[in-house]
Amino acid sequence: AEVGKAEIGLCGLAVMGQNLALNVASKGFPISVYNRSYSKTEQCVTRASKEKLGDKLTGYDDLEAFVASLQRPRNVVLLVKAGAPVDATIEALLKHLEPGDAIIDGGNEWYQNTEERQRRVLEEKGVLYMGMGVSGGEEGARNGPSMMPGGNKEVWERVRPVLSKVAAQVDDGPCVTYIGKGGAGNFVKMVHNGIEYGDMQLIAEAYDVLKTLGGLTNAELESCFSEWNKGELESFLVETSATIFSKKDDQLPEGTDEYLVDKILDKTGMKGTGKWTVQQAAELSVAGGTIAASLDARFLSGLKDERVKASEFYGKLGLAEPKPLEAVEKEQLMNDVKQALFASKICSYAQGMNIIKAKSLEQEWDIPMGELARIWKGGCIIRAGFLDQIKQAYQTNPELKNLLMDPSFANAMVTRQGAWRRVVAMAVQSGVSVPGMSTSLAYFDSYRRHSLPANLVQAQRDFFGSHTYQRTDRPDTEWFHTLWSDAQ
Ligand code: NAP
Repeated sequence: AEVGKAEIGLCGLAVMGQNLALNVASKGFPISVYNRSYSKTEQCVTRASKEKLGDKLTGYDDLEAFVASLQRPRNVVLLVKAGAPVDATIEALLKHLEPGDAIIDGGNEWYQNTEERQRRVLEEKGVLYMGMGVSGGEEGARNGPSMMPGGNKEVWERVRPVLSKVAAQVDDGPCVTYIGKGGAGNFVKMVHNGIEYGDMQLIAEAYDVLKTLGGLTNAELESCFSEWNKGELESFLVETSATIFSKKDDQLPEGTDEYLVDKILDKTGMKGTGKWTVQQAAELSVAGGTIAASLDARFLSGLKDERVKASEFYGKLGLAEPKPLEAVEKEQLMNDVKQALFASKICSYAQGMNIIKAKSLEQEWDIPMGELARIWKGGCIIRAGFLDQIKQAYQTNPELKNLLMDPSFANAMVTRQGAWRRVVAMAVQSGVSVPGMSTSLAYFDSYRRHSLPANLVQAQRDFFGSHTYQRTDRPDTEWFHTLWSDAQ
């Protein structure tokens, strides 16, 4: 190592960059930081000195000086806005980097952009490149995120000691692993976000059923979710939901006692990774219904004005808003919803894992499925106790076609399906939409059935388009066509 030079450089000091830089410094690695606008660099340096990390973190106003401060071969992490800002930053960096240096983009980038940049910077300057998904938001970045690096493996080996210390730590190691070549890291992070959409939607549906049909108060919801967080549903998102239910509105005059969650406009935002996941599922011909349903739920939530009008419109036609059911057994309902949530979640993860597996096969990425589940156990937004079960499922059978075929998950499905069907039926009967739970259930019921009505669809396709069909009593190499009516 060159004396006095920083181990690693970080470029882009918004929320993620600042926190990750402080994390690196707090693990004892000297780090240089740079941001396009100097004010954020100053902010970062001030935070570092407040946290007594000033001797490990140095801020630069000048990109050339920043690059010169790094040990060779240099490793520069980018945390700037995905897309054109990343290209602009790479362009500026390339003027100063040398062959063998490396750029590691930590943003939520489209995987093909990463692959294109990998080729370009190598050709132009002999610079190596990785695309690394980082999950965990602000808190994760500061105290230990889950990281999904993909691309040049030599770079991975170089930064592995730093990343392994910086990552969240769980019982079986740091939450970081080499995902695969090319844009594999970005792809996996994208699907992680799609799974996150599914988790959030399923939790929201559980909330809706308990509140709207079960009549649970926020206090009851808080204790229900806290209780759930001690068992099989133990997860960051269930835990944060419990905290959210307990939060009082602080915008109101002193002495007013109302909950904040009831004041939040029911319109979900999004940044695009969920949409990409659904597009990719379709491209790969993998069923990803629960994630797609979660995306649709966000689209529909966005039509607030239309929904308010539709509610009035249908109200006048006699279709009222759903309301708490009479004689509902709250304990029983909470238990049923808990089981419905867990079973639905298994289906959602089965879909997400299969999107990754299909892409890995297509791209020859050779993604270690069990390792993915392991690195998601800590640091990231979808961290959850049950990821350990997924890890074990792939450990037991690395060729596992679907999580639903793992004996332990299959047992979970069989024992929960009664409660799951009760919740979905009750919601459907009462007019509360549960798109995530019902799509998961349909996924399960389609996947586990020997025969589906696809025979009729094939007959129709052959009828109107001469698309031909196969027969159950003949080898699948034989195709048939029938003249279905005299008119043909
Ligand atoms: P961000 O809001 O996505 O980006 C802001 C940063 O980008 C600033 O440093 C900004 O520099 C820089 N930037 C914007 N346009 C630029 C340009 N044309 N040239 C050079 N720099 C430019 O920041 P973030 O929320 O910290 O996220 C960083 C990345 O991590 C993103 O890809 C994001 O999707 C991903 N991510 C975010 C989270 C999260 O919780 N926020 C979680 C996981 C992953 P200036 O200060 O000069 O404007």
